[in-house]
Amino acid sequence: MKNPDVIIVGCGVGGLYCALNLPKTMQILIITKGKFKECDSYLAQGGICMLKDESDYDSYFEDTMKAGHYENRKESVDIMIRSSRDVISDLIGYGVDFERDENGNLAFTREGAHSTPRILYHEDVTGKEITKNLLREVQSRSNITIVEDVTMIDIIEKNEKCIGIVAMADKENYLAKVIETDKSADNEAQILGENKQGMSVFSLYAKEIVWACGGIGGLFERSTNFPHLTADALAISLDHGISLENPDYIQIHPTTLYTQKPGRAFLISESVRGEGGILLNDKKERFVNELLPRDVVTEEIKAQMKKTGAKHVWLSMENIDEDVIKTHFRHIYKKCLEEGYDCTKECIPVVPAQHYFMGGVHVDKNSETTMPHLYAVGETSCNGVHGKNRLASNSLLESLVFAKRAAVKISMEYHEIDKEVRKPVLDFSKYEDADQLKEDYKNKVLNEIERMRKYHEQHNNDIKCRQSDTASA
Ligand SMILES: Cc1cc2nc3c(=O)[nH]c(=O)nc-3n(C[C@H](O)[C@H](O)[C@H](O)COP(=O)(O)OP(=O)(O)OC[C@H]3O[C@@H](n4cnc5c(N)ncnc54)[C@H](O)[C@@H]3O)c2cc1C
Repeated sequence: MKNPDVIIVGCGVGGLYCALNLPKTMQILIITKGKFKECDSYLAQGGICMLKDESDYDSYFEDTMKAGHYENRKESVDIMIRSSRDVISDLIGYGVDFERDENGNLAFTREGAHSTPRILYHEDVTGKEITKNLLREVQSRSNITIVEDVTMIDIIEKNEKCIGIVAMADKENYLAKVIETDKSADNEAQILGENKQGMSVFSLYAKEIVWACGGIGGLFERSTNFPHLTADALAISLDHGISLENPDYIQIHPTTLYTQKPGRAFLISESVRGEGGILLNDKKERFVNELLPRDVVTEEIKAQMKKTGAKHVWLSMENIDEDVIKTHFRHIYKKCLEEGYDCTKECIPVVPAQHYFMGGVHVDKNSETTMPHLYAVGETSCNGVHGKNRLASNSLLESLVFAKRAAVKISMEYHEIDKEVRKPVLDFSKYEDADQLKEDYKNKVLNEIERMRKYHEQHNNDIKCRQSDTASA
């Protein structure tokens, strides 16, 4: 197999849109740990923000900063907002069908902490609508190869530059087979061995590597994310000295459907509250302004649950027209029915769950990590847009905007790698036991999250102490 120019790890909106923005003359390989549709991008319900017109700029900027506790990188927020109209126009070009009003203009909905409706949507399955259209386009391009069920387990580093990845897959996997059977001189990819689990472990080389590995929900017991999203890029970063940023900035979504069944938590989109849904405690009394930022609403719900000992609070949709519930929130309505609740007639039980990752692999405004030739886009990266807390429906947009910027940067800096640089000797023992490696990676990331949580706690306490010293002086 001839080396691709670019390897992209992950096929959510970040990975797919990056690939589509790279020149068609480049050979691109996309790998994904699960099946194509097993990415969080498919799950996004609420929608995607867009700058409606110039008059909304200041308010959109302020809403994003305020939700992020003003810890956001202002330059990144500006880039995201300014690029939003172009990205939406690209999406429509790829066939994405956003809701329109009776005059055929784009329709906007609202979510918590937005001071005005500015969110485009497709029923309550906006992420699926966007991702399936991007995937179809990717699959139609002859310069892009996309392969399921291949897991990146490491990067290959030489002279402090990223030159490839180590991956594993079933021996019968398409990619593993191609590497094994291709005996041509330009096949530099190599089977390194078979691990304890009977999988093929192989090396792959490329000029540029893009991480688009999504969130970290797989590290938590209760999360809205796919469980195979286990922060692999973060663990690998820790091993290779690649900088992370605020790995303890983790968003808990206030409202997921309460159930005693195990598995992925089902999200009740914030736009349900944006359209009039209200939160009630066990006495069926309202206890919070439902449109406050997510972290604030989550804390209020947790406080209620602690006070009463209840396992959940209630969400009532009594103020939302039945028609709206059955059309705009069709999938939520259906899921609630499956769980035994008719949300047009009764309250549903809801509880907070891990949902989103604001921190990540530190990147600059072009999505470059601190290691040359390694980029990170989407939820796995941290370009500072979200600060300490994400504003609803900013993440699909942020993923797309900064994935395109990575692609543009890669296109501009296209280079030939000196062949001598390749093929370092790799120590296979690290990859011999996939279960052990997974456990090691998980612990590494959880420890780092905890370390940074304590650091921030201490730092905030120091600030409070200094402030009270000044006040009493
Ligand atoms: C239930 C839910 C609802 C949401 N609703 C909204 C919303 O309304 N609006 C909004 O803006 N955002 C929303 N979000 C957030 C948004 O969907 C995500 O932030 C965004 O889709 C992330 O895209 P991504 O490309 O970074 O990652 P993902 O779409 O998660 O894709 C990650 C990819 O990386 C692959 N991968 C991971 N590790 C490896 C590895 N080691 N090797 C190979 N492949 C790997 C995965 O298999 C997958 O293909 C929601 C999220 C969830 C979970």
